[in-house]
Amino acid sequence: LMGLPGLASGGLIFWLIVTLVRRGDTMGARIRRGLARGEFRVVYQPIVRLADGACLGGEALVRWQQRDGSMISPDRFIPVAEAEGLIERLTDEIIEHVFADLGKFLAARPSVWIAINLSASDVESDRVRGRLDRLRKTHGVAAAQIVLEATERTLIDARRAQSSMRSFRDAGYRLTIDDFGTGYSSLAYLATLPVDGLKLDKTFVDGIGSGSAADDVMGHILSLAATLGLDVAAEGVEHQAQADYLIARGVTYGQGWLYARAMDGNAFCGYVDGHLPAAPLANRRRA
Ligand code: C2E
Ligand code: MG
Ligand code: MG
Ligand code: MG
Repeated sequence: LMGLPGLASGGLIFWLIVTLVRRGDTMGARIRRGLARGEFRVVYQPIVRLADGACLGGEALVRWQQRDGSMISPDRFIPVAEAEGLIERLTDEIIEHVFADLGKFLAARPSVWIAINLSASDVESDRVRGRLDRLRKTHGVAAAQIVLEATERTLIDARRAQSSMRSFRDAGYRLTIDDFGTGYSSLAYLATLPVDGLKLDKTFVDGIGSGSAADDVMGHILSLAATLGLDVAAEGVEHQAQADYLIARGVTYGQGWLYARAMDGNAFCGYVDGHLPAAPLANRRRA
């Protein structure tokens, strides 16, 4: 008489345990396993000069393809990697990929640069800096060919952001503030940061022509950038009308599906060589 409920509850307990174990397979654990298995790779999205479509460089973007073929967006796993203390290992891995994929290419084209995204703990630690210095020297890549992107949030979160950034800058690396306009940085704070440029967040580009407040805000950001002598790049440019508007507003660089999506290292090298600027670039800072 006790047998049947006993069996049922046994089954229930078994199901519960299986569920809990699966749940225990957290995103953090999966990232660790993904790192051990080498599941992360890097793709590159061209960044072009809006005026003529010349490609000057690109941005390295991490991709995670799991064994079953499914892709997980960096917007989902980067915050977890940051929270679980795994981001430095991941950033190391990404930097290794960048040099394995593009080291030779960059060494042979000293005016081409590549942007790498950094998280707060990457900015704080000397580890990223050491790895970049070492790999650059091995490959013969100049510091000015490496652009480090950090969001406003990252720069606020990072302790020692000021001094770390200054030391990157002193070593010749270039620095840009990513997703600009979405964070909380005050003008006064921004003016003290040793950065070379801003990347205008896609939300502003999306708002172009909508007559929304975003247009006004963008105008203010652009005059701020001009005052501070910063390069401006717009991200997420999908339509020619957006590009035209940005050009009219004096934005120099753009990145987006209108030009090219992110692609593997080989394709990126082909793209850059197919879109070299006709004339040498002015105003380039050199290490
Ligand atoms: P982000 O640094 O602002 O990168 C730009 C994102 O916009 C990329 O998404 C890119 O694929 C996407 N994008 C570019 N052009 C267009 C466009 O025309 N339309 C649309 N809809 N999207 C466009 P992705 O690769 O999914 O990366 C998302 C975010 O994840 C990045 O935003 C960055 O914050 C973070 N991330 C990506 N790779 C890395 C990395 O290697 N390290 C770190 N720390 N974060 C990374
Ligand atoms: Mg970025
Ligand atoms: Mg961005
Ligand atoms: Mg963004």
